[in-house]
Amino acid sequence: MEKTSIKSSTNNFAEEKTLDWNEIQSNFLKSFGKEIYSSWLKDILLVKEYNHYVILGVQTRFFRDWITSRYADRILNELQKHKLSINRIEFKIIENDKGYKNSNFISSTTDKKITQISESVLNYNRLNPNLNFDNFVTGNSNKIAYLSGKKICEKLSSYNPLFIYGGVGLGKTHLMNAIGLEMSRNNNVMFISAERFMYQFIKSIKKNEMVNFKDFFRKANVFIIDDIQFIRGKEGLQEEFFHTFNSLFDKSAQIVISCDRPPNKLDRVQDRIKSRLSGGLVVDIGPPDYELKLSILRKKIDEFQNSFKENLNLTKDVIDYIAKDAKSNIRELIGIFNRVVAFSKMSNRVLNINDCKIILKDVYNSNKIISIDRIQNVTSNFFSINIDEMLSQRRSRPLARPRQIAMYLAKKLTTRSLPEIGRKFANRDHTTVIHAVKTIDKLCNSNEEMKKNVEELRSLILSD
Ligand code: ADP
Ligand code: MG
Repeated sequence: MEKTSIKSSTNNFAEEKTLDWNEIQSNFLKSFGKEIYSSWLKDILLVKEYNHYVILGVQTRFFRDWITSRYADRILNELQKHKLSINRIEFKIIENDKGYKNSNFISSTTDKKITQISESVLNYNRLNPNLNFDNFVTGNSNKIAYLSGKKICEKLSSYNPLFIYGGVGLGKTHLMNAIGLEMSRNNNVMFISAERFMYQFIKSIKKNEMVNFKDFFRKANVFIIDDIQFIRGKEGLQEEFFHTFNSLFDKSAQIVISCDRPPNKLDRVQDRIKSRLSGGLVVDIGPPDYELKLSILRKKIDEFQNSFKENLNLTKDVIDYIAKDAKSNIRELIGIFNRVVAFSKMSNRVLNINDCKIILKDVYNSNKIISIDRIQNVTSNFFSINIDEMLSQRRSRPLARPRQIAMYLAKKLTTRSLPEIGRKFANRDHTTVIHAVKTIDKLCNSNEEMKKNVEELRSLILSD
């Protein structure tokens, strides 16, 4: 690439190398990353190439403005790697019939566009009536989050935004849904996951419906967004979220956000967003203790007996056993409970602890065959590092620790042998794996943070 030299050869026009657009596109992908590339760059066309500049085609004015304001410099840099003489880019908006083969532009009236957005949003904006405050069981680990949620329902904007964070399966979505249900009595509630928000956002851009998108989301006076960690590393999405947030906040809409970590741990998120997120009340939901697990089981038994009008014959010992043994994840606890109930009904007898042991063993060991690839993916994602880097030979701690944790989990969660695990980690020796397992074991015993991370990762890997 770099060989394209201005002065090369006897030919004065040596730089008149033509651009290979496919190759450039694949370099865009590499240097901008998948998110930006697929949201913004992949549909750019090469319209015309001159010696010193190029004309690129984009679908809409909005695309053009977005790309020029954010990525133009880097695009130019990329192009210069292929053809040094280029010093300028021009963008041209190309109407759908002139070039964009797959475009599905809407040419109908604005009114129609609004209903189209609303209809598709309706599909996921539905609140689940079964996840309410009444069946949200409280204990030490979630009491404050619960009370804060209740509080904002009584009085709008006492805490704004309310930011609820905690690990997987601990009740964030349940609580957010409960808040939404309660508030929807008197308010226009928008309840959406960050992932859906992005999906809708990109769709609106592609269909040239951004005005409607903005209107739609800014209409709410209660805006609940689940799993905000999804915006990490997604620049365009953060930009839009920031504006949505601000305009809602300015008109005193209540904003509720959930996340798998506290705002200050949101790496690859703009600082101004982090500061907005933590500007109200930040509360966490922790792993349930034994008492909470017990209360949840009791509640589930009640619910079961009420809805099926039949008695569940679970002894105190058995319930106790489940509460003690189940991992610190409410979703899993309920899964185990359901299994025990199913088993007891099938066998038609009162279960004892030994039955439970068998069922639990089954739950933990069965149906889930965890692959090392999955462990590597989830782990590198969790630590926000590139999987190739994690597997590389580099020894810096931010790479080495996650690598060791992944090896450790591979040993604990799969039946692979040490040499097999070593091979999957860029052909490392089995002694390296042993060392990793020992190191992480030791750290888990001495370091709370490590223990928490490993536990959280384990449940992320085991969850589907
Ligand atoms: P998260 O969003 O934090 O991953 P969810 O809200 O999806 O977790 O909760 C997982 C499951 O556990 C759901 O079925 C939810 O109803 C149940 N659950 C979580 N916390 C509680 C609670 N405090 N009381 C009753 N059920 C709960
Ligand atoms: Mg959730």
